[in-house]
Amino acid sequence: MGLVVQKYGGTSVGSVERIKAVAERVSAAKARGDRIVVVVSAMAGETNRLFKLASELAEAPNARETDVLVATGEQVSAALLAIRLNSMGFPCASFLAHQLKIATDSQHGRAKIKSIEADRIKAVLKEDKIAVVAGYQGVDPLGDVTTLGRGASDLTAVALAAALKADICEIYTDVDGVYTADPNIVPTARRLDRISYDEMLEMAGLGAKVLQLRSVELARRFNVPLVVRSSFGEGKGTWVGQGDASMEDVLVSGVTLDQNQAKVTIAGVEDRPGLAAKIFGPIADAGIIVDMIIQNASADGRTDMTFTVPRDDVRRAIDIVKKIGAEIGISGVRFEDPVAKVSIVGLGMRSHAGVAAKMFRVLADERINIEMIATSEIKVSVVVNSKYGELAMRALHDNFIGAGNGAEESV
Ligand code: ASP
Ligand code: MG
Repeated sequence: MGLVVQKYGGTSVGSVERIKAVAERVSAAKARGDRIVVVVSAMAGETNRLFKLASELAEAPNARETDVLVATGEQVSAALLAIRLNSMGFPCASFLAHQLKIATDSQHGRAKIKSIEADRIKAVLKEDKIAVVAGYQGVDPLGDVTTLGRGASDLTAVALAAALKADICEIYTDVDGVYTADPNIVPTARRLDRISYDEMLEMAGLGAKVLQLRSVELARRFNVPLVVRSSFGEGKGTWVGQGDASMEDVLVSGVTLDQNQAKVTIAGVEDRPGLAAKIFGPIADAGIIVDMIIQNASADGRTDMTFTVPRDDVRRAIDIVKKIGAEIGISGVRFEDPVAKVSIVGLGMRSHAGVAAKMFRVLADERINIEMIATSEIKVSVVVNSKYGELAMRALHDNFIGAGNGAEESV
């Protein structure tokens, strides 16, 4: 008999019919003899609807009150699922974060979990009941409602799995696993049977939406094995866990595309200690995340610096640079054409040379110009003109992963 944490996302509990289907799945697992803790998201679209209501009443809605509001979505779905399970003859109790002391700091909207008191859940499981927990929410030291950030019901599930030392954390969603690339862009993309935490972290950080980034970090830290699978079918999904030597045989596990980057170039920055800090300090203080930075070789004691930021932040970044530029004396700031970041990720890169070189060759064959490059131990990212982002992604997928047999793998 195992202890299983199952998490169901918004589309999985998006209607009364869907909640009935989830209840069937949960009760079947219970009938097999496992102890079950279920974490639910709000019904599909509900969290957005609540945020929108708030924004219709205030330009910048109060953060504490917004958390009180948006946390209700999960309360509704937790109660509905528990009502259904009880009516089916499966004793079940639903819980909100304050009842389980899912203790967080007070940063409303992006609170961090400090600790979880799992005693209450353990007691319920001992009585042979199913526990249903509202995801996404926490409670701060004052006892106030907090939320953990968008998509963070995944995090609730992993944190509970870690606290309860669960055997597995199953993430049920509307896709049947983690894919080698976004199937909407790369038709030959296929489901992976397994992927390491490290690869999944890179892919989540690079924009793969299937798992929330912080939940993968936590799963890795506490060694919680994850399975991502569809609540709409019976596929075996993708296992996410500790990488092993056999996984290094695969050179590239996934290709990602981030179309949300913009590139800024500062021309004529004096080449002396402290200037990079002067420029990037205030950008960081403004909460703007700088992704890649390149500093060119200097000529006549001056250099160019190019960096990328999320597209929505580019105006603010340029205003900041202009202001500092006036103090430190630069010759200009350029906002360049929209760019895309295309990345390949794979544990195999640790032990195989030449992966980056092959990537550059594939892009050259497509006549795609590389504007920036960044690497880590298991990732190579390039910035290209955004027009060529999808083409680059498909070409890299074809060359590194191949067409495979997507149909066979995905049933
Ligand atoms: N309902 C929350 C959101 O939409 C949390 C989640 O679904 O994971 O972001
Ligand atoms: Mg999600």
